[in-house]
Amino acid sequence: MKTNNKEIKERAHKINWREFSAMEEKDKIVFLNNSQTGNPFHVLFSQQFDRKILDLLCKVADKARLIHKNRDKGRKFLKSLLFGTFALNFFSQPSSRTFLSFETAQEILGMGIRDIRDPNTSSEAKGESMEDSIRTFSSYVDLIVMRHPEAKAVERGVWVLNRSDRRIPIISGGSGPDQHPTQALLDIYTIYKSFDRKVDNKTIIMIGDLLRGRTVRSLSYFMKNYKNMKLIFVSPRHLRMKKDIKDFLKRHKISYQEENNFKKVIPLADVIYMTRIQDEWDKGKNKQKSHESVGQGFKFKAEYLNLMKKKSILMHPLPKRDEIDVELDYCGDPRIIYWRQERNGMWARVALIAMIFQKEQDILRYKIK
Ligand code: ASP
Repeated sequence: MKTNNKEIKERAHKINWREFSAMEEKDKIVFLNNSQTGNPFHVLFSQQFDRKILDLLCKVADKARLIHKNRDKGRKFLKSLLFGTFALNFFSQPSSRTFLSFETAQEILGMGIRDIRDPNTSSEAKGESMEDSIRTFSSYVDLIVMRHPEAKAVERGVWVLNRSDRRIPIISGGSGPDQHPTQALLDIYTIYKSFDRKVDNKTIIMIGDLLRGRTVRSLSYFMKNYKNMKLIFVSPRHLRMKKDIKDFLKRHKISYQEENNFKKVIPLADVIYMTRIQDEWDKGKNKQKSHESVGQGFKFKAEYLNLMKKKSILMHPLPKRDEIDVELDYCGDPRIIYWRQERNGMWARVALIAMIFQKEQDILRYKIK
C-alpha cells in the first residue's frame, strides 16, 4: 500500500497522546488520510471526507453492488480484490448493523475475518492496556474496525498504530459519543441513491436526540461538501444539537434552524432523519424517564406520510423503538427507506474498504458482461 508511512511515523513519534488528542480534528487529518491519494486510511471523522472522496465512494458502492449481482464472475472478482488479507472487528459495545455490515463487506471483498466482541475474552481482562491490545491485534490482521464505549478510544488506537512498525488502518464503528463516520457515509449514499445520484439542494430534518446521537453529528459535518443544503433540527429542549456543530454550520454558511413543531416542517423536507433517544447515556432513574419524557411531538405518526413531499425519504440509522409508527414498516411506500438504508451500509463499507486498500479503480474499471 502506498502510504508515506515513514514520514507519518516520524511526525507521530514527536507527538504524545495528550498532545495528539488535544489537536483540532482538522489538524489530525494528515495523520488519517493517505497523503498520496487523499483517500482516508484510518477513519475517525466526517471531516476527513471531501466532495471528491464522497462522490467517488458513492460511485464505487454503486458499481460494487452491480458487480455483485453477477453471481459467478462478478462475485469472484470482488473476492479476489482483498483475498489473503484479514480484518478484525473489535466491537466492545452493542452493535448489529455496523458489525454485520462490516463483516459482510469484508467477506464480499475476500478478506478473512476475525472478531472480538467481548473484551473479557481478550487480554484487556488481564490488565493489558488498550494500546498493547491494539498493537497485538495488528500483528495478525491488515485492518481493524473498532467500536468502543469510550470517547477517543478508537482515536487512541490510531495514535498507537501511527507510531508502530505495523501501521494498519483502523476504522471507527463508533467510539462513545464521538462521531460515527461510516453511518454518515451510508446516509449520504442513501440520499445519493434515492435522489437520482444528486445530493445537493436538499432540506433535511433531523429529529430526536440530537445532543447524544452520534450519527446526526457526523452527517451534519458532511453538509459542507454539498450545495444549498438546509438543516432543520427538531428535538426536546434538553436534547438539542450541540454548539460545536452549530458553530461549524455557521462557519461554513450552511443554513440551519431549530424548530419545535415537527408537523409544521415535514412538508419542507426532502429527507426526514429520525433518531432514537440515546438513554444508555442516562444514569439510574433518569434512564427510564429520559425515553418516556419525550412526547409524541418527536415521533413520526402514520398520517404524517400524507404531509411528506412525493419525492422525499424517511431515514433512521436504527435501532428504532417507538419513534416511527410500526404500521409504516412494511406499508410499501417507497419513501420508507430505512431498511434499504441498512443494506446501503454494506455497500458503502465495501466501497470504503476498497478505497482504503486502493482498489477503487479496479472496481470502477471492471466490465460487467
Ligand atoms: N446505530 C447508531 C449508533 O450506533 C444509532 C443508535 O444507536 O441509535 O450510533
